[in-house]
Amino acid sequence: MRILIAEDDTVSRRMLGRALASMGHEVLAAADGLEAWRILGEEHPRLVIADWEMPNIDGLELVRRIRSSREDESAPYVYVILLTSRTQKSDVVRGIDAGADDYITKPFDRDELMVRIRAGERVLALEEKLAAQNRMLETMAMVDGLTNIPNRRAFDDAFRTLCGHCQRFQHPYSVLMIDIDRFKNYNDTLGHKAGDETLQAVAQIIDESIRTSDSAFRYGGEEFVCLLPETSGEGAMLVAERLREMTEAAAIAHPANPPAGVVTISVGVADFNPRTPRSGEEVLRAADAALYEAKESGRNRVVLSHAPAPVRE
Ligand code: GH3
Ligand code: MG
Ligand code: MG
Ligand code: MG
Repeated sequence: MRILIAEDDTVSRRMLGRALASMGHEVLAAADGLEAWRILGEEHPRLVIADWEMPNIDGLELVRRIRSSREDESAPYVYVILLTSRTQKSDVVRGIDAGADDYITKPFDRDELMVRIRAGERVLALEEKLAAQNRMLETMAMVDGLTNIPNRRAFDDAFRTLCGHCQRFQHPYSVLMIDIDRFKNYNDTLGHKAGDETLQAVAQIIDESIRTSDSAFRYGGEEFVCLLPETSGEGAMLVAERLREMTEAAAIAHPANPPAGVVTISVGVADFNPRTPRSGEEVLRAADAALYEAKESGRNRVVLSHAPAPVRE
């Protein structure tokens, strides 16, 4: 473990350093609180042993700074042990109240140091495990359980970021709104389980057919949405048409979907053109309207939204 010793007394600092190094730890040393604060920001030690009385910033103030700087909840926890010649109970209370996890009295006892460091390691290991589990939960919350592709929540995040970027830097992007044709009939004739499997299959076709810079999401029930950065409406039409063809070519039987007789999709395409900027909401609405048109005009087809006329200068 990477441990920082903040101690102005040279002899005590060296002895501590040697003891910790012999336990197999990587030791960083600071001769005062200010230097310790700088090292904390640069080297990110997991555990700090801080002397109470030091020039510039004392141990108590150092602990307070460490705790109050941790507004970013994702930053790893720093375990702090105060080193003090003070043995009065009130001092210990003040130290722990300021945010210290533990304390050691000077001169330190090697065995005591060892067990207190180990206690710190246990806490840090727990904290790491919790952080890893939280990261996993966060990822899971963004993935659709049935199709294993990113879900609506992930889409909202990604779309907000993409819109912001493209509006600010005047880059184009396109959106594909995809909806499986007569899917209610599919469920009604072949059952809900077959419906689920088909949703998985279509999600996979879409996800595997787009470029790595593009992304696909399950938008709702049997609807998917794709985000295509740096792509004009014309370019997006080619992608959409390919998705439509691939889905039809997969030849998943769907007797209640004439005339194809297989599972097909309809796609609405809309783009953001920096020369005629519009909000992300408007782009989505346009893609939705284009999808509606694709359905109305017979399904198993791709429709490009009528882009707004350029503004005359
Ligand atoms: P259209 O061609 O106009 O899109 O007709 P549709 O039947 O596909 O449209 P509608 O919106 O009426 O029906 C969507 C159906 O999708 C309703 C529901 O049975 C089905 N569906 C939505 N989510 C799921 C799911 O998770 N699993 C299964 N099996 N079916 C789903
Ligand atoms: Mg001191
Ligand atoms: Mg639908
Ligand atoms: Mg549908």
